[in-house]
Amino acid sequence: MKLTVLGSGTSHGIPVIGCSCPVCCSEDLRDNRMRASVYIEGDEGERVVIDTGPEFRIQALRAGITALDAVFLTHGHADHVHGLDDVRSLSYEHEIPIYGNAETMTEMESRFSYVFKNTQRGGGKPRISLNAVNGPVHIGGLTMTPVPVKHGILDILGWKIGRGEEAGDQRSFGVYLTDTSFIPPQTLGLIRGPEFLIIGGLRERPHETHFSFEQALNAGTEIRSPRVYLTHICHNHSHREISAYCNRFREKRGLEGMVMEPAYDGMELVFPADLKKSGEPCEDRLSRT
Ligand SMILES: [Zn+2]
Ligand SMILES: [Zn+2]
Ligand SMILES: [Zn+2]
Repeated sequence: MKLTVLGSGTSHGIPVIGCSCPVCCSEDLRDNRMRASVYIEGDEGERVVIDTGPEFRIQALRAGITALDAVFLTHGHADHVHGLDDVRSLSYEHEIPIYGNAETMTEMESRFSYVFKNTQRGGGKPRISLNAVNGPVHIGGLTMTPVPVKHGILDILGWKIGRGEEAGDQRSFGVYLTDTSFIPPQTLGLIRGPEFLIIGGLRERPHETHFSFEQALNAGTEIRSPRVYLTHICHNHSHREISAYCNRFREKRGLEGMVMEPAYDGMELVFPADLKKSGEPCEDRLSRT
């Protein structure tokens, strides 16, 4: 299986419109972060995305996405769903199922009401279906299990990404948790020991509805993943600075054997065998003034 980070930025993306801070003006391509999303390609050609943010079209073109079997949503905030209409050109051949919790599906029905009402005939609408889920979803040999977490007072989902029968036995899976401020104990039991964890870490300072770097790395330690990558990052810190922060955290906690790093747009993880990080940062950077 291969996972590609399509976007690793917080809700406003980086560069932030109108901002001239050092990170928004950075020449380091890894400091150019679109809204958070990942693309997963299964061993049998399955293709799914988690979240379709406002840049989904650009991200899909960059990653060479030519078909989609399903979309998995974490929650209904704009930075995670406002590109949903752009799955339209991938839905001509077959309807694309959208999965999320009941609250998010209700939200999608009203946010994209024109798709589900019969008032518009003909083309111009994506062919999608909304599916509220409580348990694992099987897409070919891929098993996507919803992972309930708290995002402030909101109940949202992360996703556990596994392979067929193995998905349930803790041997081979990864976990994607964005916008998280608390992981309930029963969820911790469901996701312990993944091959990798991609987890939202907004900034160094605490935030009401998101983990800070320290909270995210603490969660990674508790979840016992050997590879922890931060995502949903804001413009307060450069990629290099966050990388240095992660190194200090590992040294302080005696976790030298673990990988702890910020993710970047274009980062790829191939798993389960020979899990290696690869993928160059996306070169077609967004222009800024
Ligand atoms: Zn978000
Ligand atoms: Zn900035
Ligand atoms: Zn959110």
